[in-house]
Amino acid sequence: MTTTNQPTTNQLLFKQAKAHIPGGVNSPVRAFAGVGGTPVFVKRGAGSKLYDTEDNAYIDYVGSWGPMILGHAHPHIIDAVKRAADDGLSFGTPTPFETTIADKICELVPSVEMIRMTNSGTESTMSAIRLARGFTGRDVIVKFEGCYHGHSDSLLVKAGSGMLDIGVPTSLGVPADVAKYTLTLPYNDPQAVRDAFAKWGDKIAGVIVEPVAGNMNMVVPQREFLQTLRDCCDQYGAVLIFDEVMTGFRVALGGAQAHFGITPDLTTFGKIIGAGLPVGAFGGRADIMRYIAPLGGVYQAGTLSGNPLAMRAGLAMFDLLCQDGFYDTLTEKTRYLTQGLQARADAANLPFATTYVGGMFGMFFTPSQDSDFPQNFNEVTACNAAMFADFFHGMLARGVYLAPSAFETAFMSMAHSQADLDATLDAAEQVFATLDNA
Ligand SMILES: *Cc1c(COP(=O)(O)O)cnc(C)c1O
Repeated sequence: MTTTNQPTTNQLLFKQAKAHIPGGVNSPVRAFAGVGGTPVFVKRGAGSKLYDTEDNAYIDYVGSWGPMILGHAHPHIIDAVKRAADDGLSFGTPTPFETTIADKICELVPSVEMIRMTNSGTESTMSAIRLARGFTGRDVIVKFEGCYHGHSDSLLVKAGSGMLDIGVPTSLGVPADVAKYTLTLPYNDPQAVRDAFAKWGDKIAGVIVEPVAGNMNMVVPQREFLQTLRDCCDQYGAVLIFDEVMTGFRVALGGAQAHFGITPDLTTFGKIIGAGLPVGAFGGRADIMRYIAPLGGVYQAGTLSGNPLAMRAGLAMFDLLCQDGFYDTLTEKTRYLTQGLQARADAANLPFATTYVGGMFGMFFTPSQDSDFPQNFNEVTACNAAMFADFFHGMLARGVYLAPSAFETAFMSMAHSQADLDATLDAAEQVFATLDNA
């Protein structure tokens, strides 16, 4: 923190970035609009920590928004990438590594019988809904308020004015004629799902859901909610898509579908499976996946898809994820931190709640004492975002990097040590004491 009026290094770097990059960032949440202030420009990462351009260290709970489950610059991954780079960066032909990673994912996630690689999560969800439409010959997609599935046209849509009404775009440039095929329902509301299918059932191609919602802070689904999706899709012949771009290999080795015991028809992946390189994938039932080109008539392609660097990084990642006890250890770290935060907030008499599953967790400034808080987007948006912003900046000043928004999930990595967790709790205790609980 500076006490003079001289711009800080980050302020200078941000000003330079804004000259030729819209908003100075290549993805909007990085701009700190949700919390105010200046983004931290990072020079390198190692283990649990990020280092800014002045070599200040931050304990990082963003983890590149999920992929860094092993921590930054893990030697096993970096070594795999270096060896892959020596062999050449891209060939535009099949490579054996693509087969190996497909076999691995199909082994770990039994609902996935065939899988196609893409370059991002957005591509995987966009392709999965096209596939659901092509397979069923129907147009309507159901999604849920507060879930994020990347930035393709059909998925940048919110609910229309009436319940069970056609959707309206949330972005300029999305045609209303596209948005009208997307129905947006409240999360964790089984009755809304049954009502929607009763009204539109023969038009619904598929349902896409985050099986733990990680793009509205973090909301845990009721099992009954996920079961209702499964039942309605079965009854009406619609395709159930679990968007596990965030939760895949994050909440359990078999993803959220293993954690909750609900089997989707299609699953999308991203983030962790590339270990930090750009990657996505979608897969599922073989009879559905056979509709994808070149086997079937649903077109999908990618010049760099199955890129050898990303495949070999992902395979190296799986070596470590598959070690005994990996997810137990990761979950224990998350439990320790969230319970510690809750205890310190309670001691400071602050309205506060946490959620966690596996290696992801949420923090909420809320007066709600309900044990099942939060259930949906409305409950999350009712939280105190101004208090979160103060908390965020207090933590940042003490060397803890949280997501710069009250609507994002936090991520634990295996590199977070007991000392990191305790330092985070000490910082939180100090910051909580500065927050106004009136
Ligand atoms: C991050 C995310 C996406 C989009 O992935 P990108 O790689 O950013 O395109 C899609 N769905 C979910 C659930 C995500 O968390």
